[in-house]
Parts: sequence; structure tokens; C-alpha cells
Amino acid sequence: MSLHPDYKGTYQYKWQNIPYLTLSGMEAVTITPQSNFVNVGERTNVTGSRKFLRLIQENNYEAALEVAREQVEGGAQVIDINMDEGMIDGVKAMVRFLNLVAAEPDIARVPVMLDSSRWEIIEAGLQCLQGKGIVNSISLKEGEDKFKQQARIIRRYGAAVIVMAFDEKGQADSYERRVEICERSYRILVDEVGFPPQDVIFDPNIFPVATGMEEHRRNALDFFQATRWIRENLPGAHVSGGVSNVSFSFRGNDTVREAMHSAFLYHAIREGMDMGIVNPSMLMVYDDIPRDLLEKVEDVLLDRREDATERLLEFAETVKNDGARKQEKDLSWREKPVADRLAHALVHGVAEFVEEDVEEARKSTKRPLDVIEGPLMDGMNVVGDLFGAGKMFLPQVVKSARVMKKAVAYLLPFIEAEKGGQRKSHGRVLMATVKGDVHDIGKNIVGVVLGCNNYEVIDMGVMVPAEKILETARRENVDVIGLSGLITPSLDEMVHVAKEMEREGFNIPLLIGGATTSRVHTAVKIDENYSGPVVHVLDASRSVTVVENLTNPQQKENAAARFREEYNELREQYKKRETAKDIITLDQARQNREDLFAEGHQPVKPALLGTEVLEDIPLDVLRKYIDWTPFFATWELSGKYPAILKDPVVGNEARKLLDDANGMLDMIIAEKWLTAKAVVGIWPAAAKGDDVVLYTDETRKEKLATLYFLRQQTKKATGQPSKSLADLVAPEGNNQTDYVGAFAVTAGLNIEPHLKAFEKEHDDYRSILLKALADRLAEACAEYMHEQVRKKYWGYANGEQLSNEELIKEAYKGIRPAAGYPACPDHTEKATIFNLLDAENRIGVKLTDSFAMYPAASVSGCYFSHPESRYFGLGKIGKDQVEDYAARKGWPVADVERWLSPNLNYTP
Ligand code: SAH
Repeated sequence: MSLHPDYKGTYQYKWQNIPYLTLSGMEAVTITPQSNFVNVGERTNVTGSRKFLRLIQENNYEAALEVAREQVEGGAQVIDINMDEGMIDGVKAMVRFLNLVAAEPDIARVPVMLDSSRWEIIEAGLQCLQGKGIVNSISLKEGEDKFKQQARIIRRYGAAVIVMAFDEKGQADSYERRVEICERSYRILVDEVGFPPQDVIFDPNIFPVATGMEEHRRNALDFFQATRWIRENLPGAHVSGGVSNVSFSFRGNDTVREAMHSAFLYHAIREGMDMGIVNPSMLMVYDDIPRDLLEKVEDVLLDRREDATERLLEFAETVKNDGARKQEKDLSWREKPVADRLAHALVHGVAEFVEEDVEEARKSTKRPLDVIEGPLMDGMNVVGDLFGAGKMFLPQVVKSARVMKKAVAYLLPFIEAEKGGQRKSHGRVLMATVKGDVHDIGKNIVGVVLGCNNYEVIDMGVMVPAEKILETARRENVDVIGLSGLITPSLDEMVHVAKEMEREGFNIPLLIGGATTSRVHTAVKIDENYSGPVVHVLDASRSVTVVENLTNPQQKENAAARFREEYNELREQYKKRETAKDIITLDQARQNREDLFAEGHQPVKPALLGTEVLEDIPLDVLRKYIDWTPFFATWELSGKYPAILKDPVVGNEARKLLDDANGMLDMIIAEKWLTAKAVVGIWPAAAKGDDVVLYTDETRKEKLATLYFLRQQTKKATGQPSKSLADLVAPEGNNQTDYVGAFAVTAGLNIEPHLKAFEKEHDDYRSILLKALADRLAEACAEYMHEQVRKKYWGYANGEQLSNEELIKEAYKGIRPAAGYPACPDHTEKATIFNLLDAENRIGVKLTDSFAMYPAASVSGCYFSHPESRYFGLGKIGKDQVEDYAARKGWPVADVERWLSPNLNYTP
């Protein structure tokens, strides 16, 4: 173990060989408020929060409760409540507040820490608590007798207790004193009072460092050391502390403070601190602390250099607070008139004060509706303009929507009570994910963006059949219908909806969106079937302009005509190109197949034959396999991760989004919001033409299933093979025995209650964030399981060592193509895969009518081990192959044509 090269300290203490003295030897540990230790919310404290004090003084207990709720929602696992303030009656305030908390299930689910230096407040509090509480705090300050007496009372209430390192002589300010007092307190509590040791939590005093005082130099270090001693010598006892104290000398410099808190926690947790009063918004991810800052902070915390304080002070001058990140904390905007405050809250997505501001605005207008139509709409218009001008990005807009929705929800009861009339909107838009499809992130985002622009959105959810869509459209008299879908069979369903709209005489605009939709498909397949306007909208940002153009009475005729013309042209072009497209016959293509086994490649015999289920894959393992690039794409921030974080245009937003995502991931993991499961299987297999036959066992006598594959028919350059996935498997009759695997994974189990909770809060931002993260975890799970298969279950790549970047670049040997994707676009093959794996029973993933997987955050596919395996695209195929494929599967040609319609080189 080497010391950091800069280490010149003269302080040699006994555990200098502990790794955290080095910078280079540090493992990556992510310190977040949620990881590994109990995080105590500290905002419900009148001495620590001016806002909370004001609310209590004004008797605004409603709003004070919200502070508690936010803490719990923000991840606090305990809330510290303190009413110690000369101007308020502490006992009364504590009792009243605790009784209110007890009636709020979503706050009362976490324990309360009664924080007071006045015993009567603690005792009054103990009488109100329902579950197990924690008393903060007692100490030997006033002698053993009092200490014991209080401990006995606390014990009788069944509460845990925080013991300050304080005795008759004063507060412990050195390692030795901390040890002395804690040991003595522990003996008294455990041996004499009979306190359960696991209910004893020591607070060995976190004091400021870098104060310039010589005697403060070891403050953090002594705390760390004492923590370790307590954990090693006082069995069962816990260690806690108020973290923000450590950075007291850097008040006003949040960048340095956040770095100090995180670094402090990093070390303290390693030494055994397992609880802490932490302000989550004043923390940085340890790994994200800039190296130069971290070094100086740790020099101070670990007392590594004589001049550590000077160097940190000097450095602190150069790190200004990161303006963008701190915007929300600069509260000067609170001084402005209410309309400006509402606009600010909307533009910056700050939901914190919106209800009080709306209330103020409501009192000053005639009708509550005026607040919506006045200041709120004005604010949203600013958001719309900024978004339109590319100065705001999707995540910000979705956060604005959350503020707007909260405001409207607050006003709604007043509007109803007054029968104050209908809110004037720009129009009504019905949105639905079509029958058979379960994907709705894109649709939800478009809905939010339209909502922000004062359209009334009727969101019918997912898997909505045509007749329901039309019935609702009629009943609600909507102005526009928006259809969404992700998988290719949904394209067909959209055509069906368009035909139905035509049949029923609709003429309102029809918008088409979703990952597999395209302008050409919309023009060729959908527009032709509906005489009203049909428009393909891929970006949420474009949706507003399109809807505006198509609904505004002055423009709509013109706009519809323009789109019609554009789509006519697209159709013509497409037809010209289509006739020009040359494909070879299926026979020719098969002649041109590649023999990947000619050179005697011998496939590896798998360690596993048959299936294996993994019931509960740890999410923190999966986290490391996440590919973040598609996550940003979901939010319409384009660029590759991690470069996107430094992008001059979207970098700032990307960083904030990633922060939020990581914060939520911490919660998902800590509180187990989601369950990830996987089932994989490997079977003996042989290619038979373009089919792959799977056998029940190594005797290869009994057929278990057949996977049907397709072959490229587009003309190839000389030397280029016409590919089929079947070529990756050793052919039947060959003496090379081969195998094929299959998998289904999901990370979306149990997501519903969390989505519901966010929806109840009108929090689209977090609802969409959670869905997007579940999708990421599902893909990560597919990546992880594929690695497990290569290295363990199949074991053909035992020695593989690939970084996540390499995995994302598909540097691995073998592939895991997914049914419905380019190499094997037939979604119906999922039925075979699911049967083989018994996936529905074993991991709870279902297939819809269109072979979409539910939960949406699921992935499935096949495993091929051949070293030459690559992903490719099938491209267009001819009628000869469709007929051949139909015969192989025993299906009517028309059915195959329907499932493969995007790949047909002809119009059936
Ligand atoms: N790392 C990315 C992976 C995207 S591709 C992410 O996290 O989103 C997702 C999966 O699609 C691949 O793992 C593979 O199963 C499948 N896939 C990709 N290209 C394919 C192709 N050409 N044919 C069939 N399946 C493909």
C-alpha cells in the first residue's frame, strides 16, 4: 500500500496503512443518500430550515407536512423533527405535527427521529409515536443519573436512542475522548439499563474542518477513527452524525461543500458509519468529484498535509458554484410578483412553491380559471417558445409540465366549486398506443408536450383496440387522434384504425408516431386509406406545430393540403423505387449462402442443456451494464454517452438528466422498486435449410421445436453471401454437433404501483424516467445474461474480459438476435421462444396479440455461438420466399404477408 505521492504529512497515526490514505488505491464506491446507510431527512427542523420554521410559526401545518413528504419521497428513510425555537411552543408544535404525520401513510411509513435538547419535548413526542421511534439525543452531559433515567423512559417506549459523545466534562473533541465517552455510555445503557445494543446509535460529533485552527485539523479523522473503534468494540451499536457540519467553513460555496460531504461520507461509511443526517441535494456522487478538488478535500479530511487548509481555501476561490445546477437554489426569484414567480417555476420546473404561488394568484383574481388562463398559460407559452427555439430540451419541458399539472390540480376543486366554466384549450387530442402494443414512453412524452401547449390530452393508454379509439373520439368530440406503437405489427394495426376511421366517416387529422413508423410507411400504407389528413410525427418537439397547423381554423385547410401533397409525392417516389428494386430468387439466394462450417469449426458443448431461471437478479449488478446512449435518445437528447455530457448544446441538460436518473436508480435499487428475472436455455440443434431444429437431448432423436429463419434476397456484390441466421448453426447430418440458445429477461416486474404513485402526483417526469430506466435495466439484463451464457452456461468464452463499452460495441463472440429485429423480423417466432423457455410461467412475461412483450421492459431472443456471427438486416424478400416460409410454418400466405409486411418487396 503506497501513500499518495503528495503525502508529506508529519502526522503518522497507527493505521496509516489503511487504503484510504491513497488516492490511487481507491475503489469506486458511489456515495449517494440511499446507498448502504440510513439517510435521515433533516428539513423538518426549525433550527435548520428557515422555511419550515416559517411554516410552523404561521401555523401552516399543511405545508409543513409537505416538507416531510418531500423528504420521504426524496429518499429519506427516517425524518428528523425538531421544534426547538424560542418563539414557538415546542411541546405543542411537536405533538400537533406528529399527530398529523401519523395520519399520512406515505410519510408515516418511515420512522421519526425526535430531535430536541429539551426533554419535555422528547417525552411528549414519544407519547405520540406509533411505530418505533428514535430519540435524538441523550448524553452524560448532566451526569449518570439523569442519563439512566432518560434512557429507561426511552426504553419503555421501545424507541432507539442517539447518544451524543458528551459528558460532564464537555463534548468529546479528540479520538480518545470519543472512545472514552462512547464506551462508558454503552456500558451504562447495555449493562445497567438493559438497553438493546442495536438500539444504541452513537453520534461521535462531526465538527468543521479547514477552520484555520490547529486543533480542528484532525476533526474528521478523529471521527472516522472513533467510528471504526465503536463498530469494532461496541457490538451492535450504530454510528450516526450530522454531515453538513463538517463543511461549515465553506458556507456559500456549495461546490466545495458538496464535495466535502460526499468525501466525508465515503470515508465514514467505510469505517462503519451507518446512519446520517444528510441533505441529499447537498451531495455529489463521489466519483464525480473533480479529481483536483477531491484531492484537496481529502487532504483536509484526512489531515494529509500541513498546508491542506490553505490549499483548499485557495482552490475554493477558483471553483464557482455551477450556475445551472444551482439555479433552483437561488431563491431571489421568490421576491418577484406572483406572475413572474409562476413563470419562473414553470420555466425552471420548480414544483416546490407552486401551490402557495397559485393560491396567492387565485386570491387576487376573480375566477380560479383566470389563474390558468392568465399567468400559468403565459408561463407555459414561454416554455413552448423556448422549446420551439431549441433553447429548452425535452426533460425540462416534462418537468415544466409537472409544475403545470400540480398547479391545475390545486385549482381544480376551486374551479368546480365555482362552476367557473370550462377551461379554454386549443383543442382536444386523443392519444393511444394501438392494440397489441405496450410501448408508451414516446406517446406519453408527446402528450406532455401537447399538454404544455394548452391542448387537452385524452390518453387512452396502451393496447387500445380501434373501436374503443373511435368511440372515444366521437364521444369526446376530439380534434385530433394520435396513434403510437413501437413494434412492426403495430404498423398494420394503424392501417386498420385508418380504414375504420374512413369507414365511419371521420375527417379529423390522424397523427402517426413511434419507433418503427416512418414517413414513407405513413404515406404509402396509411394515408391512402384515410381521406382526412394523416401526418407522421416522430419528434415530440414537432408535434405542437403539426397539431397547431392542423387545428387552427385559419390554417388547417392549407396545412392539410400541404401534407397531402407531400405524402402524394412520397408515395410516387416510393412506387418508382419499388419497381426498380431488384432482388434475386430464393433459390439463387440459397446458392449464395455462406458455409461457416466448411473449415471444420467445432461448436463448444454447453455446460447447461435445458433451461435455467434467475429469479431475482441484483439491480446493482445490472446497473453496471447499462447502455446510456439510448436513454438520452428517449429524451430527444442526441449524442453518444459519455461524450454527450460534454456536448456544448445539450451537455448541461444531459448531465442533469443523468443525475436524476442515477438518483432514481439509487432508489430503485435501495427500495427494490423493480424485480429483474431471466430465463435462458440451450439445446442441441441443427440447421435444416433455413430452419433450425432443436432437439430434446443429445441423442438428437426427438424434435423439440423449430425456429424459422429468413434469407436475404437483395442483390449482393460479388463475394458477399446472402445471409440467414440459420447459417450460423451446423447443418443436419454434419458431424459438427451444434447448439442454439434462447432467452427472455425482464426488469419491469412490479413497476405499476410506482408509476401510479407518480401519476397521482401529476409527475410525468418521474413516471417517464422510471419507464425509461426499466427499459435500460432490461437491456442491461439481456447484456448481463448474454455474458453469463458465454462465460458460464454455454461456456464458449470462459476467459472473456470485456468492459461495458466493449459489450455495447458488441465486441463479444456470438450474437443474441431478437425476433422482430432486422435479422429475424418475424415477431411471431417469439411464441416458439417463449414456449421453449416457458417464459410466461417462469418469469411472468406475457406476449400480446401482436407479440409485444408485457411488461414492456423485457427483451427476448436467440443465442448463436459461431465466432463469425454478426447482426445484419434481412431487407426485402420476394413472394417466392414468403410462400416457402408459409409452407414451412404451415401458415396461410396471407398471414405471413401480414406479419412480414415491412419486408415485402411487393404489394400483396
Ligand atoms: N445496448 C443497446 C442494445 C440495443 S440493440 C441497448 O441497451 O439498447 C438491442 C438488441 O437488439 C440486441 O442486443 C439484439 O438482441 C437485438 N438486435 C440488434 N440488432 C439486431 C439485428 N440486426 N437483428 C436481430 N436482432 C438484433
